[in-house]
Amino acid sequence: MSDAPAPHRAARDTVGFDLAQGLAQRRTADLYRRRLTLDGAPGVEVIAGGERLLAFCSNDYLGLAAHPEVVAALKSAADRYGVGAGASHLVSGHTDAHRRLEERLAELTGRPGALAFSTGYMANLGVATALLGRGDTICEDRVNHASLLDAGLVSRAQTVRYAHADPAALDSRLASRGSGRRLVATDGVFSMDGDIAPLPGLLAAARRHGAMLLVDDAHGIGVLGSTGGGTLEHHGIAHAPDVAVMGTLGKAFGTFGAFVAGEPDLIDTLVQSARTYLYTTATPPALAEAARAAVDVACREPWRRERLRDTVRRFRAGARQLGLPVTPWDTPIQPLVFGASAAALEASRVLRERGLLVTAIRPPTVPRGTARLRITFSAAHEPEHVDRLLDALSGVWGG
Ligand SMILES: *Cc1c(COP(=O)(O)O)cnc(C)c1O
Repeated sequence: MSDAPAPHRAARDTVGFDLAQGLAQRRTADLYRRRLTLDGAPGVEVIAGGERLLAFCSNDYLGLAAHPEVVAALKSAADRYGVGAGASHLVSGHTDAHRRLEERLAELTGRPGALAFSTGYMANLGVATALLGRGDTICEDRVNHASLLDAGLVSRAQTVRYAHADPAALDSRLASRGSGRRLVATDGVFSMDGDIAPLPGLLAAARRHGAMLLVDDAHGIGVLGSTGGGTLEHHGIAHAPDVAVMGTLGKAFGTFGAFVAGEPDLIDTLVQSARTYLYTTATPPALAEAARAAVDVACREPWRRERLRDTVRRFRAGARQLGLPVTPWDTPIQPLVFGASAAALEASRVLRERGLLVTAIRPPTVPRGTARLRITFSAAHEPEHVDRLLDALSGVWGG
């Protein structure tokens, strides 16, 4: 409660935005959001306000965010490059550190080229603005990440949404479009449901209509595929000129930033005209070095992916025994859907009392009536952590 700002009456009276009323409505609808402040490093065990918590909500899937080798890479690169890049990539902010990271990411994804962006949000906006304009169409899965939906809006293309993970629905949406370019955009692993997009079917539909496929692999890269190459590798989809992949570095790779990988002409087009690449300061080169170190550790230590898989399996087996409604997917994102926002919040609160941190995800992040606990796992979780979670969940679900 203490971090809730007091209503600012003056704004209501003089400006007419009525912000206080909007905030009050959020509170009554159980949609008011609060930030948790951590003291120190993120990890499976965190400290917040002096309280020690076991966390199941980070996207640091491989446990690399505080890895000594990644931290050392950041420090030594800061000694060499300083902190700020000082300018955008096309002015004087581009360094050999960025170039090495891009080469490493192209190799990881098995694509001919890659371009590093400051964030995944910006990468998605960049692709859409560089490739699309008025008269073009972007086809989006209904539950795509907000940044893909915003990318469509910013591009000025017409947005068409298709039924979740449904290649036939996509096909019929594409068939009804006129001329102009078409881009099909989908999460690789859906961020709130943890299911894997049916990329072969989506790609086939895109190809029948001459569309390009953009896969947002924020939750697949580093995790899925036999070498951690992501959802495309999982499905065995080799490089093709009509496929682009966006991956983030702030999740499985535990650092910060993002990239787009694909055809050299695509990469060059992004350099020329992706607005979120051109009109922003380049990421600190030291961060690029840290991200590259994280990719190296992830590739060199496949046990991290295996351990993560075992952890997810242990959770799913235990959850089934308890009668919890597990999804058919064994990705590190394991949602437990309560429905009402109040119910999800209450479950999160009860877990918190038992020293477990699992955030409740509510609309509009997820569709109305599907508020949930979004439980995520990391290679850093111990079997005993999973058992503690299961024990606590048996109390909150239907109990
Ligand atoms: C996190 C996320 C993004 C945004 O990536 P950032 O680098 O955090 O901006 C984009 N798409 C999906 C599906 C995500 O989960």
